[in-house]
Amino acid sequence: MGMNALRILMALALPLSLLACQAREPNKHAMQTPPPEPTGPVVKTDAEWKQQLSSEQYRILRHAGTEAAHGAAYEEFKKQGQGTYHCAACGALLFSSEQKFDSGCGWPSFYDPAKAQNVKLSTDYSMGTQRTEVTCAICGGHLGHRFDGEGFNTPTDQRYCINGGALTFVPAPKP
Ligand SMILES: [Zn+2]
Repeated sequence: MGMNALRILMALALPLSLLACQAREPNKHAMQTPPPEPTGPVVKTDAEWKQQLSSEQYRILRHAGTEAAHGAAYEEFKKQGQGTYHCAACGALLFSSEQKFDSGCGWPSFYDPAKAQNVKLSTDYSMGTQRTEVTCAICGGHLGHRFDGEGFNTPTDQRYCINGGALTFVPAPKP
């Protein structure tokens, strides 16, 4: 087998192994009732987070990981109707379907937070460029990045590009 064939095989095997890994984990992307809103900062040890979160949530929230574009969490996000988005680690209210928009980027996108004091912005130089990192102000968990002035027809023209795996969706109560 040539090197090229080997590379193709490896490229095919990696996403498959990731899929198999995700399928074993329970679906924690949605809840029927809102989690309790934290009343102060949530501080836990690395071992405690590791136990509480799925491996994908842990990688995103505690190690600033990025889920694959157009992944399972994004497919769920696209189907979700009205409701609120909470931090998957601490339950803090972060975003709402009111500010959700279709950016086409492959990750959940919002033009504004639902509760601004729960969303912290900081400058991130990790990829050799300057970006605005978005974290949960309550537990410090990494959520994604914010991009400004891309020309989206929204009230802010800001795109909070958020990992679906960092969010727990709670549908709005039916009237
Ligand atoms: Zn949090």
